[in-house]
Amino acid sequence: LEPIYQFMVRMRIPGGVLDKHQWWGIAELSRRYAERGIRITTRQTVQLHGVRKPHLRALMQGLRDIGLDTIAACGDDSRGVVCGTNPFLSRAHQRVAELARITSDRLIPKTGAYPEIWYRESAPATHSEEPVYGELYLPRKFKVGYAIPPVNDIDVYGQDLGLIAVIDNGELQGFNVCVGGGMGQLDSREDSYPRLAEEIGFIDAEDAPAFSETVMTIQRDFGDRKDRHRARFKYTLDRLGLDWFLDELAHRRGRDLEPARPRRFEHNGDRLGWQQGDDGLWHATLYIESGRLDDALRGQISGLLEQYGGRLRMTTNQNLQLTHIETHELEQLQWRLEDLGLAWRLTPDTQAAHTLSCVALPTCGLAMAEAERYTPRLLDVFQRLKGQYGLADVPITLRLTGCPNGCARPYLGEIALTGRAPGLYNLYLGGSFHGDRLARLYAGNVNEERFLELLAPLLERFAEERDHGEHFGDFLVRRGLLDDTPVALTSF
Ligand code: SF4
Repeated sequence: LEPIYQFMVRMRIPGGVLDKHQWWGIAELSRRYAERGIRITTRQTVQLHGVRKPHLRALMQGLRDIGLDTIAACGDDSRGVVCGTNPFLSRAHQRVAELARITSDRLIPKTGAYPEIWYRESAPATHSEEPVYGELYLPRKFKVGYAIPPVNDIDVYGQDLGLIAVIDNGELQGFNVCVGGGMGQLDSREDSYPRLAEEIGFIDAEDAPAFSETVMTIQRDFGDRKDRHRARFKYTLDRLGLDWFLDELAHRRGRDLEPARPRRFEHNGDRLGWQQGDDGLWHATLYIESGRLDDALRGQISGLLEQYGGRLRMTTNQNLQLTHIETHELEQLQWRLEDLGLAWRLTPDTQAAHTLSCVALPTCGLAMAEAERYTPRLLDVFQRLKGQYGLADVPITLRLTGCPNGCARPYLGEIALTGRAPGLYNLYLGGSFHGDRLARLYAGNVNEERFLELLAPLLERFAEERDHGEHFGDFLVRRGLLDDTPVALTSF
């Protein structure tokens, strides 16, 4: 007798874009098969939790029927290619989204095993079915993301390969490229750490998909295949050196990179609420706490989609955009959002809008502490603390994860808590509001009381001494308040 296995099923949705039929399909499939709910992830896709093994094939075939699959959503391969900012805001945004999709198609495995296993479609095996991955695939996952300044919503410096759009007079010129970012670490190994990607140069727009493949294949050939914890691209770069990498890259491409061009990020959160694109169409971004789509919310969104002709897009901050709304639909849709009690999601509490948390307990097998389920309480106590210093409306990026693996990109937050044990977290401080500086370990094993004790004096000084418009992380670093850290690795 086999144990009752259950699985998490994550879809591949490059750029996070769905049409309404796909949404309805996902809602129906999740109602049928996802016993532990569904969530929007920080890589702008959807994952279904609690799918029992006997239902897997029916689910995969159901996804295929709505034009979706799960190829490269997990595993030692390219993972989902993310693309920041609503692609429908301008022609240049749209072009970046197209390139992200082409990149995803180019980098995903081409194996016939997937349709054979899930769809029962067999094709004759060939030796060339995986020209890029070969038989051994990659040493570990490889994450690619496209960002469109001034919004660093994908946290481009946390990607193995980040492509930062350079847009001049509304035209996409190309991309500044950055390599070697990564969040995951183990608290038990000193040679395991989060790393910020380094910006190394500029490429033409049309080169981006082939360039991504070249970088990924360098990692394929030189990544550490003996020690899985050191197998990510960031460690390959640190082991062999950036100069080595640039030489190898130039050798494979047949030319050097151009110098990086000026670019400026302003924040790494989503712009919530209504926005209008160059083409006059409207887009509404709704806040979804921890990306959790419960039955009621799924039903409400399904109902909304029956009434207007738009599409949807998931963001890398676990939020949901309703896109392609005509001006004549705007007023009615706003009323409908109000009727359904969804309008607050357009303008949520400032701190909530800048907070990310992973799924953690009881769903993730690696979790050592609560994250998603603890988020409402953490937000409550943290907002009250901020309020004591008149900071309630000052956005501070806050990230909460159930383990150091970092799925909610904690090390790029201004404040982050990563789980150590039930009720205990490592506290990181000092990431930048733009997502281009890593937070530092400030205290270990803190519980909620200690978290508030440690934050209170820092917030008090921030309220009194900060420069106009200065963000919390920048203030901590400028005033040297993190220089003597960690303050207490065993404070509890
Ligand atoms: Fe699980 Fe850790 Fe990722 Fe959270 S950060 S989802 S606990 S692996």
